[in-house]
Amino acid sequence: REWCVALPKVELHAHLNGSVRNSTLLELAKELGDKGVIVFEDVKDVIMKNDRSLPECFRLFDLFHILTTDHDTVTRIAKEVVGDFAAENVVYLEIRTTPKNNEAKGMTKRSYMNAVVKGLKSVEDVDVVLFDSNLRNDETPMSDLSGDTKRKKIYVRLLLSIDRRETTSAALDTVNLAMEMKDQGVIGIDLSGNPVVGEWETYLPALEHAKELGIPTTIHCGEVPNRKEIQAMLDFCPQRLGHVCCLDDEEWKKLKSSMIPVEICLTSNVMTGGAPSLELHHFADLYNAKHPLSICTDDSGLFSTSLSNEYYLVASTFGLSKTELFRLAQGAVEFVFADDKVKKSLRAVFERAAAETL
Ligand code: 5GP
Repeated sequence: REWCVALPKVELHAHLNGSVRNSTLLELAKELGDKGVIVFEDVKDVIMKNDRSLPECFRLFDLFHILTTDHDTVTRIAKEVVGDFAAENVVYLEIRTTPKNNEAKGMTKRSYMNAVVKGLKSVEDVDVVLFDSNLRNDETPMSDLSGDTKRKKIYVRLLLSIDRRETTSAALDTVNLAMEMKDQGVIGIDLSGNPVVGEWETYLPALEHAKELGIPTTIHCGEVPNRKEIQAMLDFCPQRLGHVCCLDDEEWKKLKSSMIPVEICLTSNVMTGGAPSLELHHFADLYNAKHPLSICTDDSGLFSTSLSNEYYLVASTFGLSKTELFRLAQGAVEFVFADDKVKKSLRAVFERAAAETL
């Protein structure tokens, strides 16, 4: 386990509001409980509960959003989440979040995102590299493998999520906002939200718009069986896909020949029923087929996991050696949405780490 913590890692699929520490959620719930907005004891039980079905997760997100959605809290959670990933030697993090309008809080999608960016800039114990302009050619984030006191560095990039409950026009707003915030670390678009809600045709214009603007997309695909939608998603050819749990034989073939990188979220898939068990998770099939993969947490807070733990689960469940695990972590560098300069410096981080640990 310690080896998995020390391993430099790339996180490509982490939802901001799903990655909040339980202790923070409890603190926020207590404050709202004291104000009479919620009943703390009820909310506490929900936060501390361990098994979560897919529908339950989405009810929980609605609750989390009540707790977290004001500007200062958004700033706080963004700061904490980045700090937590950096602490376990994540050297590159793509954090995704749904920009939210909330009139009661005077919040627009833009002001929500400004609050997120403010949080990323206020991380204190770690150097957060948010823009390319911060990066000198010789500068690379160092994971503290040798245990010395060098400050940790982490590249952070943002993906804006379209929630499946949104209209076409709201989804288009999100894509336009991503374009506007390109110079502030926003580099991609995600489609997520409750998979039994909404229609692919609603989001397609926004995803096409992203494509036209040259903004990479990643799509939550096949969390529930939905033949028509899975086909359409594969045909859209996003830069990456998340989950891909419920594919039939033909769709597996199509996915494998597409070579679209897949974000694998083991604990999340098992907890929400997308995979029957860790042992029977489709990771094994894709890994054996040498399909491009990256190991991710999805919602480290919600599912009480961490990226180190997910790597540990891969090793302990599927019997990967240290070298294989290292190569898996290293491979994810090739699927980041950041530019070649960042990739190059991440490759250097892994080369150095390989020399030290393998
Ligand atoms: P946020 O975007 O508010 O920062 O993070 C929480 C949101 O991410 C949820 O409301 C939901 O839309 C999305 N999300 C988080 N985890 C999952 C997941 O496992 N599957 C899907 N489809 N969406 C998710």
